Amino acid sequence: MVRLKINQKISSEDGAREFTVDSLIHTGSGQGDIYKVHSGKDIYALKLFHTGDQKRIRRQIDILRKRGRASAAFVHPLYVVKEGDAIGYVMEYVGGEHYADGFILFNGEEVDAGGGNTVRVEIPFAQKIAVLYNIAEAVKILYEADIALSDLKFENIKINRNDFSVKILDTDTAIGGKSKPIVSGTIGFMPPLTMRGEEAPCIYNDSYALAVMIFMSLIGGHPLRGKRYEEPCTTNIDTYVFATNPVYIFNRKDNSNRPLPSDVRIIERMKKYPKYFTDAMHETFVDGLFDGKKRVEPRAWQEILERLYDDHYLCMHCGEEHFFEGTAKNCNVCGAALAPPIKLVCEKGGVAGVHLFNGTEIFSGDLWGDPNNYPLFKVTVSPYDKKYGLQCVGGQTVNLELKNGFKKEFARGDIIPIFMDAVLKVGKYTLKFIGGIIK
Ligand SMILES: [Zn+2]
Repeated sequence: MVRLKINQKISSEDGAREFTVDSLIHTGSGQGDIYKVHSGKDIYALKLFHTGDQKRIRRQIDILRKRGRASAAFVHPLYVVKEGDAIGYVMEYVGGEHYADGFILFNGEEVDAGGGNTVRVEIPFAQKIAVLYNIAEAVKILYEADIALSDLKFENIKINRNDFSVKILDTDTAIGGKSKPIVSGTIGFMPPLTMRGEEAPCIYNDSYALAVMIFMSLIGGHPLRGKRYEEPCTTNIDTYVFATNPVYIFNRKDNSNRPLPSDVRIIERMKKYPKYFTDAMHETFVDGLFDGKKRVEPRAWQEILERLYDDHYLCMHCGEEHFFEGTAKNCNVCGAALAPPIKLVCEKGGVAGVHLFNGTEIFSGDLWGDPNNYPLFKVTVSPYDKKYGLQCVGGQTVNLELKNGFKKEFARGDIIPIFMDAVLKVGKYTLKFIGGIIK
């Protein structure tokens, strides 16, 4: 095994750059060691493979170089290097303070609580959604090109704190089509049949791992880790729960592996998530548990994450996320009465609608995805009764109808009062208000 020494110089195979070894970052894991190196002022990471078929590694590096460029999320080879019998490559260095470990999606982060104490806090819902969306985007690019990362997990992800973009590390486990796998994956993130050794990793392993990460990040536990994990077991418990006898903790037909009563947070959280989310999880971890084709695909997860974002509002007291479709009257975390902001939605509009805050301008694209996206309303506080109203700012007439039969027509400049039972007609479109308590 070849080891590089600190300050040792190593040139790229094409002779274009020379690198100086700064330190060893990571040793032994996977198939090689990773060093921090520099070339002039630029810092890079260098991976040197321990052993292996040089031809195969070279081919792998070549594939990575080409495919890695498909998304900025993939850390991919920039230069090939050789040292003795060992081959390796130089890639972007992902480190420094503005990168956080992917684990924070699940574990939260330690923050200073004063007096030398720290507390662990969850990262905000909107940030989780943004990061998960970016992970799904990166996975989608490979998935749709029939390339499997094979070992997607929190550990291989770095989050840029500035813009919530992600970097996926260890992409040299990626394989295309029916190629021979390089790794099988990681316990908990690989599907049962792969863990049993009955099915080689393929793109469906990535859609499995992606769903595990989304579930763990948003719900706060592993989708297969329920009370079975605590029961006496004569074999390895991980093998039992994740490979030989897996049951989704919210399986609608099999309640044998429900979350432990002490996992009340997981139960309460799942309860309030919208049906399209719980359906997608059921599809993946029940219908798709042994059949990769039935798992929800990365592209669909992106849509679900986007929809969750559009559908959510935060408890004003503790910041816990809630959804418009939920029926809870009080926050499951702090108990406060829930007061979702009012939302204007279009029946069969195909888009999420708009939350009404003072000054919000509402366009036709926000309500029915109209590509012409012309202005319709502006949220205004009425000078008479200090209540929110919708000022008509477009050229369309708007017809208001109340449940009691009251009807009125509004035109440009008029302010439409907001009543929760009101129906607004704009041309062929029907608008309604949802959520909300009107103050
Ligand atoms: Zn709360």
